Amino acid sequence: MSDSTMHGNKSKIRTGTNFTAYKSGARSEWPDHSLEIPGLGEIHGKHFLKDIVGFTGSEISINSLPPGAGMPFYHQHQENEEIYIFIQGRGQMQIDGEIIDVQEGSVVRIAPNGLRTWRNNSHEPLLYIVAQMRANSLRQYGFGDGVVSEKKVTWPN
Ligand code: ZN
Repeated sequence: MSDSTMHGNKSKIRTGTNFTAYKSGARSEWPDHSLEIPGLGEIHGKHFLKDIVGFTGSEISINSLPPGAGMPFYHQHQENEEIYIFIQGRGQMQIDGEIIDVQEGSVVRIAPNGLRTWRNNSHEPLLYIVAQMRANSLRQYGFGDGVVSEKKVTWPN
């Protein structure tokens, strides 16, 4: 894995039979993440989680884009839908030529074919989470997939 943040991740990961828990760090540390994308060079502020946490149905990244910065390319996807959840700051997305203002609380879904790029045109860091999963793959969800257990809730202390 080329992600430089993989170094020392062992102490941040805890696994059990049915879980993996990862301490990704405070939001203020998100700009420190970086990764190498073949052909595009080093991307700062992007941290993919699938390989670290072991997601099996999605790729999710946590992202920080500094003031004035923007993605230097457009991209599409082959089969995956993407969902962008903005949690801090302000910026803009451009999808198929349409401009969408985004800010804390904005949630944007983009179909695979959508030609997309985005930028931070504000004076504060733009923090967002990107989830990527196969379009039209969800069969049941929310409480429709959950099964409530009859086990009484207890905590050791
Ligand atoms: Zn993408």
